[in-house]
Amino acid sequence: MPILQIDHLKKYYGQTEPVVKALDGISLTVERGEFVAIVGTSGSGKSTLLHMMGGLDRATSGKVFVGGNDIFAMNDEALTIFRRRSIGFVFQHYNLIPILNVYENIVLPIELDGTRVDKDYVERIIRALGLKDKVHQLPSRLSGGQQQRVAIARALATKPSLVLADEPTGNLDSKTSQEVMILLKQVSEQFGQTIVMITHNEDIAQTADRIIRIEDGKIAMRPETSGKRGV
Ligand code: ADP
Ligand code: ADP
Repeated sequence: MPILQIDHLKKYYGQTEPVVKALDGISLTVERGEFVAIVGTSGSGKSTLLHMMGGLDRATSGKVFVGGNDIFAMNDEALTIFRRRSIGFVFQHYNLIPILNVYENIVLPIELDGTRVDKDYVERIIRALGLKDKVHQLPSRLSGGQQQRVAIARALATKPSLVLADEPTGNLDSKTSQEVMILLKQVSEQFGQTIVMITHNEDIAQTADRIIRIEDGKIAMRPETSGKRGV
């Protein structure tokens, strides 16, 4: 079963004509452990698609299955719990809590969920992201790239089915962006973590196993694989 399956997804904005067809019939699947980039110009529908995948907003029609679960069939409360347990988010602006140190930021989603912290696993993530000597620091003492690594660690901490990254390198210089991308790729491989990232930056997208291009709310081309990992 694919970890993510999207069937004929449409999202229109506005109640009166002409509506904005932000997504106009998107179908795609993502297999467990894949690292997929969704690319497209500004306004092509990338953020809307990511919001639908994460159940942050409801579709006009079509379905999204995460780990086989039909997320739009859930009521708001069930969807909120599902999202907290099953989906990790990485944002352009890191969204770290300034008064919590790096370690506290990373384990916060686990604690909010009321589940036990798997210390060995969290330790492995912290090491994989090169944050071992930063755990006691406040986010304000870190560089942008370091802050984004903390945000990635936090997204992985709950062992989500899916990590969704929204322009994760949008605030970073090109060298730091490449470093963050290589780390994302490594954690995808090391932890078998499925990652879907949106970006408008073609160079950044090249790190992914597969690139899906969207244009005017539709998939522009057949998804291509880099051929580096069997998918
Ligand atoms: P709906 O009719 O689906 O409720 P609205 O047009 O009323 O949608 O907008 C809902 C929200 O989205 C508002 O907060 C608005 O500021 C924001 N919004 C409107 N147009 C855009 C746009 N082109 N891009 C991003 N956000 C928008
Ligand atoms: P991208 O992330 O690729 O820049 P978006 O998904 O933000 O694209 O936007 C796709 C289209 O939907 C654009 O035409 C945008 O203006 C419109 N749009 C996005 N959000 C809203 C909203 N809340 N209300 C109305 N229109 C929106």
